[in-house]
Amino acid sequence: MEELKQKISQEGKVLSESVLKVDSFLNHQIDPVLMQKIGEEFATRFTKAGITKVLTLESSGIAPAVMTALQLGVTTVIARKRKSLTLIDDLYSAEVHSFTKQETSEISISKDYITSKDNVLIIDDFLANGQAALGLMDIVKQSGAKVAGIGIVIEKGFQPGGNQLRERGIQVESLAIIESLNGGKVKFKEEVSI
Ligand code: 5GP
Repeated sequence: MEELKQKISQEGKVLSESVLKVDSFLNHQIDPVLMQKIGEEFATRFTKAGITKVLTLESSGIAPAVMTALQLGVTTVIARKRKSLTLIDDLYSAEVHSFTKQETSEISISKDYITSKDNVLIIDDFLANGQAALGLMDIVKQSGAKVAGIGIVIEKGFQPGGNQLRERGIQVESLAIIESLNGGKVKFKEEVSI
């Protein structure tokens, strides 16, 4: 997605050879116009998949997931990272190791919001080692629903998550794929048009 790549080039900050900071439009501030276009792009890519729910992980996946769900005419379910007084029982849970925080946390959703009849699109902001996506897939599996695909705003193609998920036969759609962050510069993977 050209507009996203331009935004990353202009505003992204390379923190190390494996971490990109995009706080100005995705992780801290949110650019709603860009998010809307991201939602339209995911909806187009999964338009024939018969999606009934969009599932994401708090907090940075929420904006692109809501915009995608709006376009698809379905609701968004947010997997919560912290147990709260209102999220107490009848949960599906999975363990996720965070690449950026270097800690493992339990993510959960209420059993009320995804059922065996659902066809779920998973959306997240970044794909690195695939831990967040695998945790969300685990939750969908527990519910008996189907994973229709995974939509990622920024995939770091030099980390193994994307390949591991695609090798399992899952449709993974990433709107920008980064080939490397070496030398403090963002290099995108060229898209091959068929
Ligand atoms: P994974 O679970 O695929 O290893 O990592 C994906 C998760 O870690 C995303 O939900 C995202 O929040 C975070 N993450 C991974 N790499 C980056 C990065 O380079 N920059 C930012 N801002 N977040 C990242």
